[in-house]
Amino acid sequence: MTAALILGLASPVVCAQLSTSILPARLAQGSPILIQVKATARLVALSGEWMGKRIYFAEENPKPGAGTGASKGFSKNSPTIWFAFAGVALDTPVGSYTLKLTGKDAKGTEVSGSEIVRVEASHYTTVELKVAKEFTQPDETTQKRIAEDQKLKHEVFERADHGPDTPLRLWQGSFVAPIPNTASDGFGTRRVFNGELQSQHQGLDFHAATGTPVHAANGGKVVLARSLFFEGNCVAIDHGEGLLTIYMHLSELKVKAGQSVQLGEVVGLSGATGRATGPHLHMGVRWQGVYLDPAQLLTLKLP
Ligand SMILES: [Zn+2]
Repeated sequence: MTAALILGLASPVVCAQLSTSILPARLAQGSPILIQVKATARLVALSGEWMGKRIYFAEENPKPGAGTGASKGFSKNSPTIWFAFAGVALDTPVGSYTLKLTGKDAKGTEVSGSEIVRVEASHYTTVELKVAKEFTQPDETTQKRIAEDQKLKHEVFERADHGPDTPLRLWQGSFVAPIPNTASDGFGTRRVFNGELQSQHQGLDFHAATGTPVHAANGGKVVLARSLFFEGNCVAIDHGEGLLTIYMHLSELKVKAGQSVQLGEVVGLSGATGRATGPHLHMGVRWQGVYLDPAQLLTLKLP
């Protein structure tokens, strides 16, 4: 969807005009979003607000020949295209939401704009799964461990969601599937474990025999690499700007917390540790505290 928007007309001076394009074309519950903003004059800063979250924009490298063809209407020496990553939480009610933009041009004049964005419904199936009883009816010792895991995850993820490292963008270009295999279970599936509805699937499962190398989907910093009760051996990579990818049920960890990784680096070997019905890789995508559909992220072409 592409729509022009022009605001910031308080001053009689002609302000830079912003036009926004959003991918994917159909935004639904759980969608990751690429926001691109074109400005008619050079901007020196741009930030946004979306569903109460801060959006971090970066300037795209101006391409040779900018100002022709698709970008017709934009002057040749004003190539500013800015981009940002955002997302729609799975439990977002269907409706229209406002994306607010605030920027500054080279003269220090404030430029602002807004865009109404429609969020559609996602349709998810329900699956029944059988797992060991300890996963649905944990005993006291296990409950303690689950509580400890939760505390640890909360600390690690909170820091990555909003912490001091967050504004630093460590990812570059499109995200790549951690293993080349096909997916077995998608995002959002309602999961009934041993006859009891437990949760919606917060990630994407890939078929993977135990021992399959699992690769980092993009560059970042490992913020978690350890065994957890439900997740099994688990690796979480902070890509900056509140964006994380998480890899679960690994048979082996190949990285340590604190370590930087590049796209494609092996972070572990797939397995069936934790609450798994068999060997597979679970990939999760978390953006500022909400889980997004990894399948959509992997098809999103990012700058
Ligand atoms: Zn899964």
